[in-house]
Amino acid sequence: MTLRFNGNFTQQLPIPEKGIQRAVEVMRSGRLHRYNVVDGEVPETVRLEQEFATYLGVDYCLACASGGYALQLALRAIGLMANEAVLTNGFTLSPVPGAIVAAGGRPVLVEIDENLVIDLEDLKRKSEASRSRLLLLSHMRGHIVDMDELMRVCDTAGIKVIEDCAHTMGAHWNDRPSGTHGFAACFSAQTYKHINSGEGGFITSMDAEFMARATLLSGSYMLYARHESVPESKVFESMRLHTPNCSGRMDNLRAAILRPQLAMLGDSVALWNERYRVLHRVLDCSTSLRLYERSEKEHFVGSSIQFVAGALSSERVGPFIEHCLERGVELKWFGDPVPLAYTSRYDSWQYIKAQSLPRTDAILSRLFDLRIPLTFSIADCELIGSIIVECLNNILRQQTSGPKRTAAPDG
Ligand SMILES: *Cc1c(COP(=O)(O)O)cnc(C)c1O
Repeated sequence: MTLRFNGNFTQQLPIPEKGIQRAVEVMRSGRLHRYNVVDGEVPETVRLEQEFATYLGVDYCLACASGGYALQLALRAIGLMANEAVLTNGFTLSPVPGAIVAAGGRPVLVEIDENLVIDLEDLKRKSEASRSRLLLLSHMRGHIVDMDELMRVCDTAGIKVIEDCAHTMGAHWNDRPSGTHGFAACFSAQTYKHINSGEGGFITSMDAEFMARATLLSGSYMLYARHESVPESKVFESMRLHTPNCSGRMDNLRAAILRPQLAMLGDSVALWNERYRVLHRVLDCSTSLRLYERSEKEHFVGSSIQFVAGALSSERVGPFIEHCLERGVELKWFGDPVPLAYTSRYDSWQYIKAQSLPRTDAILSRLFDLRIPLTFSIADCELIGSIIVECLNNILRQQTSGPKRTAAPDG
């Protein structure tokens, strides 16, 4: 019997009951706006910010409308100037270059290396050539570069680092939470990330001036004193009338949904990693697949898994993906020249200056990606892994025996 998976690759877990109850209470109160409070009330948004700051071990936290908005705001708050160069890795998702462009900057793309993280040699080269003073570092698909080494490079070059932690909420490098190595960090609470309010984001930092400016920019209507996780009011004095309002706040409804999810993030990480390890073990049985070995210092969140199918000829990539899909397994291929859903490639961002990253191209050309929603059981992961291995073997067998004469050529 042919193996088939009948589950859904984009189905998330329900919102915890506690979050639903709290959200209903917020709706009953009618006070959804974060600054709409009655005497003595601490709104959900403020509580969430406090809890997130405590969780990360940072002084300041601002909740906002989305992860992409957090990135834009961080760039503005750091003082990005019009058309200024911002370094970023060439392997990331479209909200990253989008945020740089929205904030008025100019993305300078840096190569990745065999471990899917930013290539530090290319970072040095590009930082010298561009004289950039900013790096928007995307921990893409949860792969964390050697942060100690990266910070040495950036400190030497006088580069400030904003970490994009959309895929590393709950992860650590060298026993420090991801998002606490650079100058500031941005997180996402969008449905496909590690906590889910549909849309949502956070900015965190230890820098008072930066956080005051970010808070004003987010649209604080001069009510910043109603925050708990931002600097004291006197830090705002010199900038409050000179900082534009770019509304993008979080509301109490979303915060209510997120708070119990944040409280159980550690448990979710354990569930993700359990599933990741099962998939890793099954896929690793195939000699035709290469998986990523992670550094001992990297405590990642296995909410997705990547693998390389090096033996697959380029004409066979399409049939391999189709074959998996016929059996219910949705693979993403990062080498696809046409950006489908999340398989965004840097050369499809045609609103930025064309740049050439041959090393990144070569790596992405055989890179596959699989999401691991927590609605998958352990048995689901076993099954999905087996299907991928079987499909790859079938395709490779066809590849060695050559295409049938009568078959139309693969595109
Ligand atoms: C999802 C994501 C973001 C931010 O996304 P939003 O949808 O705006 O919350 C930023 N960077 C990466 C790498 C992402 O995957």
